[in-house]
Amino acid sequence: MTEPGLPRRFGGGRYHERPPTPRLFFDAATLATPLAELEHVTKPVSRRLAAFGLETVGDLIDHFPRRYEDFRDRKRIRDLKLGEEATVRGTVGRVVGDRTARRRVDIVRVVLTDETGAIEAVWFNQRYLVKVLAEGMRLSVRGTYRPQGGRSTFVVKSHEILEEEEGDSVHTEGIVPVYPASEQVSARLLRGLLRAVRPAMRRLPDPLPAALREREGLPTRADATLAVHLPSDLDAARVAHARLVLEELLLMQVGLLLHKGEQQRRAAAPALATPSDLSRAFLDGLPFELTVHQLQALDELDADLTRTVPMRRLLQGDVGSGKTVVALYCLVRAAEAGFQGALMAPTETLAMQHAETATRLAGVLAPAELLTAALTARERRAALERIASGAPCLVIGTHALLQEDVEFARLALLVVDEQHRFGVEQRDALVRRAEHGGRAPHVLHMTATPIPRTLALTVYGDLDVTTIAGSPAGRQPVVTRLVDEDQREVGYEFVRKQVTRGRQVYVVCPAIDESESISAATALAEAERLQAGPFRDSRVAVVHGQLKSADRDAVMHAFKAGDVQVLVSTSLIEVGIDVPNASVMIVEGAERFGLAQLHQLRGRVGRGTAKSYCLLFSQAQTGASQARLEALLETNDGFELADRDLEIRGEGQVMGARQAGVPDLKLARLARDRAALLRARELAAEIIALDPGLGDPVNAPLRAAVDGAFGHELAWLLKA
Ligand code: ADP
Ligand code: MG
Repeated sequence: MTEPGLPRRFGGGRYHERPPTPRLFFDAATLATPLAELEHVTKPVSRRLAAFGLETVGDLIDHFPRRYEDFRDRKRIRDLKLGEEATVRGTVGRVVGDRTARRRVDIVRVVLTDETGAIEAVWFNQRYLVKVLAEGMRLSVRGTYRPQGGRSTFVVKSHEILEEEEGDSVHTEGIVPVYPASEQVSARLLRGLLRAVRPAMRRLPDPLPAALREREGLPTRADATLAVHLPSDLDAARVAHARLVLEELLLMQVGLLLHKGEQQRRAAAPALATPSDLSRAFLDGLPFELTVHQLQALDELDADLTRTVPMRRLLQGDVGSGKTVVALYCLVRAAEAGFQGALMAPTETLAMQHAETATRLAGVLAPAELLTAALTARERRAALERIASGAPCLVIGTHALLQEDVEFARLALLVVDEQHRFGVEQRDALVRRAEHGGRAPHVLHMTATPIPRTLALTVYGDLDVTTIAGSPAGRQPVVTRLVDEDQREVGYEFVRKQVTRGRQVYVVCPAIDESESISAATALAEAERLQAGPFRDSRVAVVHGQLKSADRDAVMHAFKAGDVQVLVSTSLIEVGIDVPNASVMIVEGAERFGLAQLHQLRGRVGRGTAKSYCLLFSQAQTGASQARLEALLETNDGFELADRDLEIRGEGQVMGARQAGVPDLKLARLARDRAALLRARELAAEIIALDPGLGDPVNAPLRAAVDGAFGHELAWLLKA
C-alpha cells in the first residue's frame, strides 16, 4: 500500500528506466533508507538527489523549506480578475503545442474548463507537456490571468495533475512550502518526495524527554516535522518550526555542556587557597580603583580558582575595559598559593607590554619571567631553569611558551590573551601540554572582540563567560567622525592642534587583502606623504608586518615613550597596544574595514583622560559599509556593535566568529533566534545538572541525537 495522492513516478515522466526490483515501499522507509531504494524513484532522479546532497530519507526530511507560499486563494474561472495571481482547478480540453513565429518560443496551450467557464492556459518553454497533459485530466494551475493579443490567457507559473477528482494539491493550492532547490532537483520534486515519506516522519523518535516537552508545550518531533513540510496553516508551521529550532539549539548546547563536563572530570586543577596578603597587597597597590565590573569578575574568578574543577572561562570585555589587571590578579593568586601562572600573548610587543605591567604592578610580590623568541640562548636557558624549578612566578610570553622544552613544574593557571588570535589548535596544544598526570591548570581565555551573547554561547559554549561591561570610570567615549575627501585638510588641521597639545596620533592604512608587501609599501608611502606634508613639524614613524621584530619593537617603544607623534601602520596594528597619551586614530579607507576591526582600532585611543577622536577617512560607500560606519558613529559599545554586525551580516561572518567556528546550523539563525538559544542553554544546563553524563535511560534518545546531529561539528569545535 502506498500513500494516497502519490505520483506514479518522480521526475516528471521523462525517464523510462525501469527501477530494479524489489523496491521498498515508502511506508517502510526509515531515516537510513537510501532514496535510491524507494519505489517510484528512478535512477536518474536518485543520482540527481545524491548530487544535491540528499541520499537518505533522513537527509530529505532534514531539508527544510525556506519559506511558504500561501496559495489558499483558489478561484472559480468566472471570478478570475485580470492581472491577479490565483489558483484554479479545471478539466483539460484541447492540448496544442505551438511555437511563436518571431521569437521561436515553445508554447503549450490548453483549454481548461470548470463549472463556471473556460480559459486558455499557456506554458512557455515546456514543450514536453504536450505529451504529459491529456484531454479529460483534472488539473490545478497557479498563475496570472493576462490580456494577450486581444484575448485573455492564463499564464501558468506552476501546475499539477490531480490524481483524483478532488485530490490533494501539493504545488498549487493551500500553503506550499518553498524548498532550496536546484536546476536538477526542483522544489516540485522535493515536495512530492516529502509527501511520500510522511510515514517515516510519523515514526520519528523524539529526542526531547517527554516531561520537558510537555512542560514547554512543544509538539512532538513527528508532528513538528509533518507540520513544517506539510502545513495545514501558517500558524502550525510557525509553531513546528520554533520547536525544531529549539531542538537544534538544545542538542548543540547539551553537546557543549557534555563536553565541558567530560573535560573537567578528566583532570583536577590545584585549588588555590582563599586570597591572602599577597593578592591583597596587589589590589591595594593599584594606582586606580577597580570598577564594579572588574570586581565582579574577580569574584567569579576567585570562586573558580578555589575549586579543583579546572576553570574554563572566557573573560570578554571591550577594548580598554581593563582585563589585564584582572588577569594579573589571578596570576598573583597562583604565585601566592605557591604555584606558577602563565600569560600567553599573541605578539612580542604585547608580551613585553604585559611583562612591564606585571613588573610595575606586581613585581615586588612575584617575579615575572618573560619568555619570547627575542631572548638570547643563555637568557632563555636561565628562564627555563627557573620555570622548571617550580619556584612561584608569573611567566609571560608568546607562542614561545608552547615549545617542547618549556617545563612548567607547578602550573596552576594559564591565561591566554586575545585568544581569538590563536588557532584552536595552538590553544589546545598549550592546554594539553600543561595537562599531565591527571592534573590540569585553570585556563582563562581573554578576548577584546566582543561577540553577542548568542554567539558566545555557540562559539564558546563550553566555556563559562565573564563579561566586563563598560570601561574604567573617567574615560570618555571616543568622538567618531566620518571625514569626506573634501574635508581631509580640515581634518589634518584639527589633528595638528592635538599634536601641539602633546597628544599622539595613529594612522591606519586601508585594509589590503592581497599581500603583506603591498600593505607595507602603502604604509611607507603614506608615512612619507604625511611627514612631507600635513605633519612636517612632527616625527612620523611607520610599522608594518615586514619589519624585523626588533625594529618593530623599537618603533613601538619610541611611540610609547612619546618620541614619535604620528605612528603610521598597516591594518595589522597590534591589538591590545596601550598608549594612553594617543588621542587620535585616523583610519584611511574606512569603508574597507569590518565593524569589529574598526571598533578595535578605535579602541586604541580614549585610554587616558584626554578627550579622544577617531577620524574615519572614507570615499565610496556601499550600503553595507555605510551601515557599518553609521553604527560606529552611533555607539561606542562593542557589544551593541557586535549585535549590529550580526544583523548586518549574519552569524557566519560576525566578529571573529569565522575563525572560532560556528557549528553549522540547519534551521536556527542566531540573529533571529536569540530567545530560543537562551532558553535552549537553560534547558540544557537543567538536563546536564540532573544527569551529567547523560546516562539516564530517559535521556537515551537525547544522547543519541546529540551524538548524531552535532557529533562531528562539535568534535572539531571542541578538540580542547
Ligand atoms: P584591555 O581590556 O583592552 O586589555 P587594558 O587591561 O589594557 O585593557 O586596560 C586599559 C588601560 O586601562 C590600562 O592603561 C589600564 O592600566 C587602565 N585601567 C584598567 N583598569 C582601570 C581602572 N579601574 N581605572 C582606571 N584605569 C584602569
Ligand atoms: Mg588587552
